[in-house]
Amino acid sequence: MADRAVAAFPEAGALLVRAAETTDLVEEARRRHGTSPTATAALGRALTGALLLGTLLKGDASVLLQWRGDGPLGAVVAEGRPDLTARGYVARPEADVPPRGGKIDVGAAVGRSGDLVVVKDLGLKEPYVSTVPIQTGEIGDDLAYYLTVSEQIPSAVGLGVFITPEYRVGAAGGILVQALPGAPDEVVERVAENLEALGGVTEGIRAGRGIEGVLERVLAGLAYRVQPLGTPRFRCRCSPGRLDATLAALGPDEARRLLDEEGVIRARCAFCGTEWVRRDLDGPWERAGPPGGGAS
Ligand code: ZN
Repeated sequence: MADRAVAAFPEAGALLVRAAETTDLVEEARRRHGTSPTATAALGRALTGALLLGTLLKGDASVLLQWRGDGPLGAVVAEGRPDLTARGYVARPEADVPPRGGKIDVGAAVGRSGDLVVVKDLGLKEPYVSTVPIQTGEIGDDLAYYLTVSEQIPSAVGLGVFITPEYRVGAAGGILVQALPGAPDEVVERVAENLEALGGVTEGIRAGRGIEGVLERVLAGLAYRVQPLGTPRFRCRCSPGRLDATLAALGPDEARRLLDEEGVIRARCAFCGTEWVRRDLDGPWERAGPPGGGAS
């Protein structure tokens, strides 16, 4: 099924529910960054989490999630926006760890100690920055902890990425459930139990019913309606204008030295892997080709 994001509204009210299938989005991230299977799973979960949090914002706001764990992946970074775009990267995309109990060990790859830093840019003078300790490094647990403790909204987050034997993304998606003030205890408990029993988001997606299948299981026993939000996409905002700032930071002497010695100034966007080049100081930035060489 194609990627899609939805909001669900239980008739009992007082629950905020967002869910998304992000298979294509995460596969594009994998292709752009050349991530190992474990890195794909970690980045895919982070991208899906950022996307879901982005749906709670408005306008040109954004939410940036940065895991700074002590695992081999180094930083895991993802940004989500209300227009259902997300972008992100891991510091060491080639790093991989062996599976544990037949499952991809994202916690070990991210690291079980360190910080999750959340930067919310709501278009005000200063962004909101919150830091919480990493709980398990499994991404979803860490986000739920951040939302519950730092934003003080009891939240459950399920995020999953299924990797095929060919190391592609077979399925990816997530669900976010938040208890709003006045949520009846039995409703919150039922949803928490359902999410626990679900085992994994991608099983629901792969069962063939896409994100609807996940909602059916997590909201089992509740009447609800579903509102489509649109199609999630991996999209970056790097542009020549932003690269000029990088060049200015480099300084004219260093820029000239690079041009003299190498004939070109190269810049690579960390978020999307796009390579940019500039052949003289007054000339334009040019894309040096799509990341991943266009091959998958
Ligand atoms: Zn970019």
